[in-house]
Amino acid sequence: MALYVQKFGGTSVGDPDRIREVADHVARCRKRGDEVVLVVSAMGKETDELLRLAEQVSTSKPGREMDMLITGGERKACALVSMALHDRGIESASFTGSQAGFKTDTTHRNAKILDVNPYRIREALDAGKVPVVGGSQGVSSDNDVTFFGRGGSDTTAVALAHALGADACELYTDVPGVFTTDPRLVPDARKMDHISFDELLEMTATGCPKPAMRSVELARSHGVTLHVRSAFSWVPGTWVTEEAPMERAIISAITHDTSEAKMTVSGVSDRPGVAALLFRRLADAEVNVDMIVQNVSAEGRTDISFTLPHEQVAVAASAVTSITDELGADAVITDDDIARVSLIGAGMQTNPGVAATMFETMSAHGINIEMISTSAIRISCVVREAQAEDAVAALHAAYELDKAPEDRIDV
Ligand code: ASP
Ligand code: MG
Repeated sequence: MALYVQKFGGTSVGDPDRIREVADHVARCRKRGDEVVLVVSAMGKETDELLRLAEQVSTSKPGREMDMLITGGERKACALVSMALHDRGIESASFTGSQAGFKTDTTHRNAKILDVNPYRIREALDAGKVPVVGGSQGVSSDNDVTFFGRGGSDTTAVALAHALGADACELYTDVPGVFTTDPRLVPDARKMDHISFDELLEMTATGCPKPAMRSVELARSHGVTLHVRSAFSWVPGTWVTEEAPMERAIISAITHDTSEAKMTVSGVSDRPGVAALLFRRLADAEVNVDMIVQNVSAEGRTDISFTLPHEQVAVAASAVTSITDELGADAVITDDDIARVSLIGAGMQTNPGVAATMFETMSAHGINIEMISTSAIRISCVVREAQAEDAVAALHAAYELDKAPEDRIDV
């Protein structure tokens, strides 16, 4: 008998029909002899609606009350799912995050899990019930309700799977799995049967929206096997595990991200301490700096460019402007119209031609590369935002990601 933690996202419980479908699915799993624990998100766009309501009545929006409000969405969904299970003849009980044993810190709207003690979930399982847990929530060390942040239900599911020693954590969503690239941009993008934690983490860090990066990190550090799959077709999705499959693709996926801007500080003095001063000041302003490039210097001066989230540009610009004299800088230039295109694959570590093929492909499509950064299993290029979709499609074709891994040409 296997134990699965199954998380259903907002669209998967978006209306009464969907909720009944979930109950039918649980019935099939139980018939097969599996034990199931459900984690559910708020129905459809409910979290957005609750946030909009708060916006209309409050400018201060106290964190404690916001968390009480938002987690109500998950609480409503898990009670409804539990009722639908009862009607299907399946004994079930719903639980808030607190009842399920999630203890957190006091950081409202972005609470971190301190401890999970799901003894009530265990008891419910032992009594033959299907527990249904509200996602993305817990109780703080001050005994207040806390919310884990957007996408936090994935984190609830992974943490619960680890605490219960489940065989796998299944994330049911509105896409059939993890794709070689965004299928909305490239129609022949391929669903992967398997991907490693490291590769999926690089993907989520460079623009792949699901699953939530935090949950992938948690799954990797605790070795929780993930299965990302569709809530609409019930066909197997993508398995995410530590070890590589036998037939290992050199390149696994291409991602893109348009959420960042580029800032260039030009003409800074080329002497020890300048980069330290600049990036300490940005860190103090809580700017999330990503890629960093420093040019070769000419006559004792150099340019430093970095990328950062669009919404932090104003804060960063004022932080940098306040120290231009100390830096010796002559200008601070911001550029919103960039995108980052990334190539991800554990197999590239031993394959020297990968970067060359990437740059040749961009050049053949007239796409200028403005910045480059690499990790052991990723190469990212900053390009004009307007050319990002072309770059993704061209690279997807160049590495033949539409084909099965064993049928692809060598790069
Ligand atoms: N409902 C919450 C959100 O939309 C939490 C979740 O679904 O993971 O962010
Ligand atoms: Mg942009």
